[in-house]
Amino acid sequence: KTDSSQPTKVAIDKLLDGLLSPGFDDRSCLSRYRSFLYRKASQYKPSPYLLLKLRKYEDLHRRCGPHTRSYNENIKRLQSSHTRRTRGCNYIVWLGANGMGNRIISMASAFLYGLLTNRVLLVDHGADMSHLFCEPFPNTSWILPMDFPVRKHFHSLNRRQDRFSDISEKSPPSQEVSKLFPEKDTIFHHLGRYLFQPSNLVWGRITKFYQDNLAKTEQRIGLQIRVFHRESSPVEVIMDSILSCMLKNKLLPEVDTQSSARSPPGNHSSKTILITSLFSEYYKNMSAMYQSKPTVTGEVIRVYQPSHEEYQHKSDNKHNMKAWDEIYLLSLCDVLITSAESTFGYVAQALGGLKPWILIGPHHNKVPDPSCLRDKSMDPCFHFPPSYECKAKNKTDFGTLVPYVRHCADRHTGVKLF
Ligand code: GDP
Repeated sequence: KTDSSQPTKVAIDKLLDGLLSPGFDDRSCLSRYRSFLYRKASQYKPSPYLLLKLRKYEDLHRRCGPHTRSYNENIKRLQSSHTRRTRGCNYIVWLGANGMGNRIISMASAFLYGLLTNRVLLVDHGADMSHLFCEPFPNTSWILPMDFPVRKHFHSLNRRQDRFSDISEKSPPSQEVSKLFPEKDTIFHHLGRYLFQPSNLVWGRITKFYQDNLAKTEQRIGLQIRVFHRESSPVEVIMDSILSCMLKNKLLPEVDTQSSARSPPGNHSSKTILITSLFSEYYKNMSAMYQSKPTVTGEVIRVYQPSHEEYQHKSDNKHNMKAWDEIYLLSLCDVLITSAESTFGYVAQALGGLKPWILIGPHHNKVPDPSCLRDKSMDPCFHFPPSYECKAKNKTDFGTLVPYVRHCADRHTGVKLF
């Protein structure tokens, strides 16, 4: 006998264990209630307190969001040369810098800050980030309106300190974060799944690529190859690192070098590698290898790469869209192999709830041994943690203060949550 008053498993999965509000118009954002069809359910459950806090935040955003009465009144106050302070509603404004990985992580950080301090998050997506994401909060908008009074001053704030001066003044109560996230390394995982739904345009591209190339396979392996210094990173050395990592950890089978034939047609089990990279060489090498000879296990290995943009473009909406497509596709994989120190990979691993194998870059043109390490947490690495402890008024190592903040495997000076 079933209890009809209880939500069904599909309803729970569809709303990502209550992270998503059920009150959205489905057609305006097809991905929101369909992502569960493409991703395994998360093994990490959001806390009831987080769900409560998100619903409260949504109410606040609805009350204070663009073009509401409170917003309009506050705009007038901000425009007035005397006050320059808001009343009833406070705001945090996000401005984009660097690539999509950095931007997505910093938007989530700004949102967490808003959540903790009851500030409404408004994002300046500009022309190069249009049509990438759905609105994350029901019946309102998170887009910073063009007429926001101090908007024109924002881009002249160059230094990090200028931009974040207000934030450092009042730190939020640090007890609160533990209550919201009893499992510390799930902060970005939950907030990322809550905030970042691909727009209908991006969702169409993602689902098409997925259906055409990734759907019919036993295992999807995401391989993110980020090369920061091309001159000191020869393709052959990186290729050898990747193969050494994949073969040693049995992520992929070897090819049968004794055989001259390709795999005979038939019902073989298969694995699919999704490569993301700015360059096409790795894809060419890997697909040639698996096409030329059968594997020793008889498995069929297919290789795909959605794009190769050759270099990181600036202020280019289509380029950013490709990056977002690929970050999301990586997050749909079963296993991830990522490149050290890349926020592009960090976002994919956190959205997917995956602990990746991290490729350690070539050392002095040689393949390091081991060539990859298994990460112990899916949290992004914070590359530039502060080194000064305000209370103690001296320099400190933030990777040793508390048990749940440790140095990152891919960047020893960075720290992350465990
Ligand atoms: P990070 O620099 O690796 O930390 O990651 P970011 O995402 O912040 O910046 C890298 C940017 O370069 C991306 O956002 C893309 O614009 C571009 N890029 C780097 N790798 C790839 C890739 O594999 N695919 C695509 N489409 N773009 C990439």
